[in-house]
Amino acid sequence: MRRPIADLPDTLISQIAAGEVVERPASVVRELLDNALDAGATQITLRLQAGGVRLISVEDDGLGIPRDELPKALRRHATSKISSLHDLESVATMGFRGEALAAINAIADCSLASRAFDQDQAYALDGGSGELRPVARAQGTTVLVKELFYSTPARRKFLKSDATELSHCLEAARRHALARPDVGFAIWHDGRLVEQWRACPQSDAMAALDQRLRDVLGEEFVRNSVPVQWSAQDHVLAALGDAPRSLRVWGRVGTPDSARARADTQYAYVNGRFVRDKVIAHGARSAFDDVLHGQRQPVYALYLALEPARVDVNVHPTKIEVRFRDSREVHQGLRHAVEAALAPSRAAAPPGLGSGASAAAATPAPGDFALGKAQDIGTEQAATVSAPYAQQYSMAFGARSGYRVSDLGALWGGAAEAGEARLAAAAGASPGPAQDFRPALPAPQDDATPPAPEATGGWPLGRALAQLQGIYILAENAQGLVIVDMHAAHERVVYEQLKRQLEATDAAAMASQPLLLPASFAATPLEVATAEAHAATLQRLGLEITPLSPRTLAVRAVPVTLAQGDAVELARSVLAELAQHESSHVLQNAQHALLAGMACHGAVRANRKLTLEEMNALLRAMEATPRSDQCNHGRPTWRAISVRELDALFLRGR
Ligand code: ADP
Ligand code: MG
Repeated sequence: MRRPIADLPDTLISQIAAGEVVERPASVVRELLDNALDAGATQITLRLQAGGVRLISVEDDGLGIPRDELPKALRRHATSKISSLHDLESVATMGFRGEALAAINAIADCSLASRAFDQDQAYALDGGSGELRPVARAQGTTVLVKELFYSTPARRKFLKSDATELSHCLEAARRHALARPDVGFAIWHDGRLVEQWRACPQSDAMAALDQRLRDVLGEEFVRNSVPVQWSAQDHVLAALGDAPRSLRVWGRVGTPDSARARADTQYAYVNGRFVRDKVIAHGARSAFDDVLHGQRQPVYALYLALEPARVDVNVHPTKIEVRFRDSREVHQGLRHAVEAALAPSRAAAPPGLGSGASAAAATPAPGDFALGKAQDIGTEQAATVSAPYAQQYSMAFGARSGYRVSDLGALWGGAAEAGEARLAAAAGASPGPAQDFRPALPAPQDDATPPAPEATGGWPLGRALAQLQGIYILAENAQGLVIVDMHAAHERVVYEQLKRQLEATDAAAMASQPLLLPASFAATPLEVATAEAHAATLQRLGLEITPLSPRTLAVRAVPVTLAQGDAVELARSVLAELAQHESSHVLQNAQHALLAGMACHGAVRANRKLTLEEMNALLRAMEATPRSDQCNHGRPTWRAISVRELDALFLRGR
């Protein structure tokens, strides 16, 4: 029953190619917009009928196609964009495969009209008959695609309702529009103008991007996001002594508050190309680890630029996936870029505020709300904070993360005590008495007088007025009322303080502790290969993992701070992360989870009466603490209600 080997007919080849490239009308929109941008268009008009199934037309004012080349545009593997392998390896255009128009022409009724920039006559080409005739048209190109999948009815059955297909087409257009704020877009559906995004002047690229983001994603997105501007050029160059290379990251990321249940507002671009990429998505999400808990998904529009030769775009027919030569660099770069953008609290005191006399009195220096400074809190109150604290903490902690820390003193105490505590921990000693590491509220200084009313205008979080229901601090600033969740806020302040201490004792924290009995486990070949390839990195992290056999790994040493945890589980998750991203934050995350647990239990509890001085000290500490807009669980720590909003509530001035 064997059939002889035979060449496939041309149309069938194109129909097969179309199967890869054209899934639905939105795929056609994407290809045609790519082509218009590649042609240098400054204004693009997209027209759709019946969700794009009946008609898609893209009209541009780009360089156009000369008469003689028009028939070639529809031919398979014909392109003006590359002509050699070298071109392919450094391709800077959206297209390069030369098959989109051919594929579309094989499954729809297709025609082209174009006038090249250096010709004064336009020509139209009928994709079915190949007939070429002169038409009237200004410089640029129009591609008209009618009755998608008319020749492949099986495919047509997979299409959804017109409304669904339209929404996919609009999403494709959005992706392009966000890539190019300098190009104007107009979109029509069934004769109605549904979107219009004006070209933004390029004199100020960030302002242009903001404008485009506002137009496409809405005012909300811009209001609830912060700008990202980051470049790795210098330190990458220095670190690698390699040929010049650079990585630039810019755009906007939403504040943790604006995160969503679904990952549907995440736009990432590599050299102007919209991509769906795991390295990028993971790098960006990991920057939110500390401020966004659970499954919430951040929103962002992030743009990466790196040398074209360092990213392979030829890995997917629709070019939505890319491969990086150094994915670790991209992952780290993105994480750093986004972290840096998110760190400043919106409550941060503007520079210069710390210089006045009253300001100096009210601003705790980072060391001032140090741990153990409880003497300002009344004894009765102190007792409620400290009583079952150590117990609470160790219980909650064991349940929470799977790692236990035996040398609490090292984390709570200063760097000087770390060594001792570590020794104690190694010897199996229990942590010291609770009061040794109990975090205090930011300690108000003796001369800390509340700022004068006229001075409150300067403090972003204002002057404390009162405590509400034992939960909230009410404060007055220049704009109106500020409400602070005192537990959430204090939790973040303590957490950041602990992290700073951990960093200060970093060398000790990452110090390695040999296991008495190496923990061996059955490993996958990938885990074994990863352990071997990243041995040096693992050692720097305080981990020693060596192969015992091609299918067995042994953990011989772990970081001191994580010595009590499950060594095998730790090793596995670090190896998994290293294999996927070539870098690992598992250890840091595990340590941060520890500190977050401690901070949560150490932070001031509800129903604790605070004095005005304590409240003011907490407000000032928040202003000096990074990420203080969110608690460790990602909940907001403060909200503001302006006088204007209050006036509206009371119908004043109407
Ligand atoms: P590719 O974009 O990969 O080159 P396509 O099939 O999409 O392949 O397009 C084939 C060729 O037709 C392009 O290389 C380009 O020269 C020309 N072309 C297509 N669309 C346009 C357009 N809107 N303006 C100018 N030239 C175009
Ligand atoms: Mg193309």
